[in-house]
Amino acid sequence: MKVMLIILDGMGDRPCEELNGKTPLEAAYTPNMDYLSEKGINGIMDPIAPGIRAGSDTAHLSILGYDPYEVYTGRGPFEAAGEGLVLRPGDIAFRCNFSTVDENMNVIDRRAGRIKEGTHELAEVLNGMEIDGVKVIFKESVEHRAVLVLRGDGLSPYVSDADPHKLGSVYEVRALKSGAERTAEIVNEFVERSYATLNKHTVNMKRRENGLMPANIVLPRGAGMVPQMDSIEEKHGISTGAIAGVSIVKGVCRLAGMEVLDVKGARGTAESDFGAKIGAALDYLKNGDFVLVNIKAPDLFGHDGDPAGKKEIIEKIDLAMARLKEALDNTIIAVTADHSTPCDIMDHSGDPVPLLIAGKGVRTDDIRKFGERTAAEGGLCRIRGKDILNILLQLAGLSEKFGA
Ligand code: ZN
Ligand code: ZN
Repeated sequence: MKVMLIILDGMGDRPCEELNGKTPLEAAYTPNMDYLSEKGINGIMDPIAPGIRAGSDTAHLSILGYDPYEVYTGRGPFEAAGEGLVLRPGDIAFRCNFSTVDENMNVIDRRAGRIKEGTHELAEVLNGMEIDGVKVIFKESVEHRAVLVLRGDGLSPYVSDADPHKLGSVYEVRALKSGAERTAEIVNEFVERSYATLNKHTVNMKRRENGLMPANIVLPRGAGMVPQMDSIEEKHGISTGAIAGVSIVKGVCRLAGMEVLDVKGARGTAESDFGAKIGAALDYLKNGDFVLVNIKAPDLFGHDGDPAGKKEIIEKIDLAMARLKEALDNTIIAVTADHSTPCDIMDHSGDPVPLLIAGKGVRTDDIRKFGERTAAEGGLCRIRGKDILNILLQLAGLSEKFGA
């Protein structure tokens, strides 16, 4: 049998006044998830551990069987891997913004006027430079975003951000632990050189002529070291694929050795083509064993504090799940979230998330509707994210016996 794990990003929520005390999932009309809920077993899951407020990156790591406390030092490596950079364990990676500074190195626009064109040309002049024997790999991403990788000996991920996260002077990067001083110096040197080269670049000359903010500096943040991670394929002997719209989730999956599938219409927004993602996941399972599908949209409505919007997007996603009913004969299907993003707090919380697992042979319980409260009554009870892969592979007959 095959396994499909669908993660509705940030779907978990708390009772919302606007929805008469229901959560968005409880208030939503979700006949397809309810069908899976009824045919299968339900429970709740602490993505990392009870009460821990998980990020999307650390939660996905945990759900894929890695200990985030061991492999995670910062967001940078997962963003960089998500942008398609080929990384090596020990590389230090950062997320970056192209920003605008004045001649006194004061940030006057953190997003360089949300620059849309020309960042590839700007990135090219920074990519490949060397600083103190360390190789600089730099690539533009969407709009003002970019990723930076430092490759060399003796580097540390424990350095602060150059990005002040507000207007005002550029922060000097500092060592956060002893031994990180040289890395901090290298990042400061990179920031200085980015200003020296980009400020006079023709792309920015033209932007000034057109009254646009020049993208005249690069500000790194979110340093992390690329971890050594045994792939899921090595650990479990199965082929694995992933479908996600946002680069950070793609990056986690890539570093877990999964094949990240390109799906037309997978955008990581509310306009994403959910049906195309589910269809691509079913296609992948014709040959592959395990596929993870991340749908980002519910998290965005949680951050916006919009319960009605979150409810509606869950209904739209549910529609795209109609065709999963036919897959139950040869597929174990799980639906859950990577963390809760309650509309009330507009950020991730440490509340557990609902989880259902359906498919041939799966034990059942009395739950008939998928929701936070109902799932908590289900037969799976309460598990941790790190258990889910084992549970799913066992149900699909894809796991080895431990012992005689
Ligand atoms: Zn998330
Ligand atoms: Zn979020």
